[in-house]
Amino acid sequence: MIEVRGLTKVYPPDTVALREVSIVIPDGQFVVLIGPSGAGKSTFLRCLNGLIAPTAGEVLVDGESVTRARGDHLRRLRARIGFVFQQFNLVKRRSVLENVLIGRLAHVPRILSLFGWFPPRDRVAVESVLARLRLGELAGRRADSLSGGQQQRVAIARALVQEPRLILADEPMASLDPALARTVMDLLSQINQEDRITVLTSLHVLDLALAYGQRVIGLRDGRLVYDGRAAALGGKEIEAIFGEAGT
Ligand code: ADP
Repeated sequence: MIEVRGLTKVYPPDTVALREVSIVIPDGQFVVLIGPSGAGKSTFLRCLNGLIAPTAGEVLVDGESVTRARGDHLRRLRARIGFVFQQFNLVKRRSVLENVLIGRLAHVPRILSLFGWFPPRDRVAVESVLARLRLGELAGRRADSLSGGQQQRVAIARALVQEPRLILADEPMASLDPALARTVMDLLSQINQEDRITVLTSLHVLDLALAYGQRVIGLRDGRLVYDGRAAALGGKEIEAIFGEAGT
């Protein structure tokens, strides 16, 4: 379970990106975070896995504070949280296999991984995820030789081999064309259902949010302005999130 309490982020000198956002996400939910550009979606997701330190408030994952964790403790907590970026964030010159192995780093003693050695069980875990995501034949290819859709599948595979409790995705389809955007959403949705992994993904495309989100959270100007079922999102709610331009 994720508990967010009074999360506030001010970027110096005075940009308020989040204003006292509080929310609870039980295990296994598929949650879509929507809001216009600049609403604070990316900042919110990054506070959840400790990439950004909030100015006030706290994030708890399974009762443990991500916000107060440091060093090895933070590393262990982060291992439970996969993160999928809009721009994929792969190591361009490395192979698909090497990129996905990075997802196992938190499970391997650091001294071994420093020398590029991963125990056989980690290689087996990676191979099975590659096969599941239809990336097996691409394992030896350099990441930057792949299409955008393939690169995002590699990024999702990297998150999946972490064996996370939670996957956070920051507009994972923003760099892809609409058909591929659906493929990425289908994959996240499948992972949520088959693996019982909680998924929280931000989107700026409303129709995808309506099609996939069981639960939709709306942010505007750093404030939580909607939290409810996708089916209950009407014109009034959409306007509250996106302003008149969104209606
Ligand atoms: P979204 O993901 O919804 O587009 P962001 O979280 O990226 O929103 O941004 C929220 C607000 O914080 C915006 O006003 C943005 O300009 C500002 N912001 C984001 N990152 C930084 C940063 N590193 N430094 C200063 N301001 C930032």
